[in-house]
Amino acid sequence: MSKFVLIGSGLAGGLLAAYLGRRGYDIDLYERRADPRAGNFVGGRSINLALSTRGIHALEQLGIADDVLRYAIPMRGRMIHDKSGNLHFAPYDRDANKFINSIGRASLNTAVIEAAQRYPNVRVHFNHQCTNVNLDSATAHLIESSLEAEPALSDSRTGVSPADAGRQIIQKGEAVIGVDGAFSAVRGAMQRRIEDFEYSEHYLAHGYKELTIPPGSDGGWRMEKEALHIWPRKSFMMIALPNPDGSFTCTLFWEFEGPRSFATTKTDDHVRRFFDEEFPDAVPLMPRLLEDFKENPTGSLVTIRCAPWYYKDKIALVGDAAHAVVPFYGQGMNAAFEDCVVLDECLAGFPNDRGRAFAEYFERRKKNADALADLAVDNFIEMRDKTASRTFRAKKKLDHFLEGLLPGIYLPLYTMVTFTRIPYASAARRARAQDWIVFAGLFGAVILLSILLFRVIPG
Ligand SMILES: Cc1cc2nc3c(=O)[nH]c(=O)nc-3n(C[C@H](O)[C@H](O)[C@H](O)COP(=O)(O)OP(=O)(O)OC[C@H]3O[C@@H](n4cnc5c(N)ncnc54)[C@H](O)[C@@H]3O)c2cc1C
Repeated sequence: MSKFVLIGSGLAGGLLAAYLGRRGYDIDLYERRADPRAGNFVGGRSINLALSTRGIHALEQLGIADDVLRYAIPMRGRMIHDKSGNLHFAPYDRDANKFINSIGRASLNTAVIEAAQRYPNVRVHFNHQCTNVNLDSATAHLIESSLEAEPALSDSRTGVSPADAGRQIIQKGEAVIGVDGAFSAVRGAMQRRIEDFEYSEHYLAHGYKELTIPPGSDGGWRMEKEALHIWPRKSFMMIALPNPDGSFTCTLFWEFEGPRSFATTKTDDHVRRFFDEEFPDAVPLMPRLLEDFKENPTGSLVTIRCAPWYYKDKIALVGDAAHAVVPFYGQGMNAAFEDCVVLDECLAGFPNDRGRAFAEYFERRKKNADALADLAVDNFIEMRDKTASRTFRAKKKLDHFLEGLLPGIYLPLYTMVTFTRIPYASAARRARAQDWIVFAGLFGAVILLSILLFRVIPG
């Protein structure tokens, strides 16, 4: 069976290695970081994530969904915190059994790596950083780093660390698959080699910072556990997801620059004043607010689009390496997992023509990744601004009402994206059509009502 070299053992890399290992391919998976099971997990990003139907489906196909979900906390809806500390709960779906799952990045990463290692034909090599790829010979150039040479977070944007001191390795496969995240070295090699390679990156004006609400003195959760908490403040917001240890991980999404922004909030006094004004109910729950704010990095939020995602039968890109999206639909990892399922299906569909399999995979996924990228940006506006409004809550109620009235015909966009596997592009199209029909219906009803009133009250 063919040998594949996989670069990057993040969430999608481990999962893809398991899928390809199951199909009998010989897999060498290289990861620049240390083994997350050694207790030194350096995610660099969100400590926990929302796992939903698409991601769960991918895990189910490997028989590991139940194991993973054992460590998850259901989030049944949004808990909106207004400035006065009032709470409004809005369920995600009319069916209370539909919820998203808060899951730790480290435990999920471990689960997929262990799933891959069940197959003797999969070998995982930590502390190996890919520095270049020869596309035509499907050869990866790697540097084996020591633990001390672990790349710093600040290096993640270049994908290349100063750890050149390590041993150089050249690994040839029949194909190299880049599962190495938003700042992919494999994609970098494609950009350099493929003349008309399309690439765009778009950074939001907002960055993010993670903060913590620790467990209460009894070890329990200090806010509603089974909800995704949102403090919407129009141009910015904070969210919090529950963790199994009784804590919450909060993420503040805020402008990098501006009169009130990360740039201007430097002193403890500034931080304290900003939080007291904007999130007064959260402050008493955050005893380490000032330390967290100072010590935790401020991350950036990028949308990356590129094409093609493959080169002949030699190279393919999967997950964030192909399509990084901003996190506001909670779908980046779910979509990356869906990539793995589709690539596996395509390889099975064209067992003797890998180039065709890669092309088919790209064809099936690209338009959906593009649609998700747009949905994710739009959802930032919805979360930070609209969730606070009565109109938004009324629209959600109308959505759920129509879904009940027209089962299988009307599906709210959030439901399609989160609780079904309808391709993202189809979901976006269908939601636009539904909105038009509802708008036309309401407009028609208003006209009809006006005519009736006009007849009943003449003059
Ligand atoms: C704040 C935030 C919150 C998020 N929340 C959610 C959520 O709730 N739900 C959701 O579905 N998604 C969420 N996402 C998106 C999700 O994190 C990503 O989509 C997902 O991690 C993509 O997986 P991946 O395996 O493609 O990339 P990554 O998880 O980034 O993994 C890439 C791996 O490649 C390794 N690597 C990189 N370069 C090299 C190299 N040169 N050589 C060797 N190895 C290399 C890295 O060390 C890493 O382990 C969130 C993202 C952010 C930033």
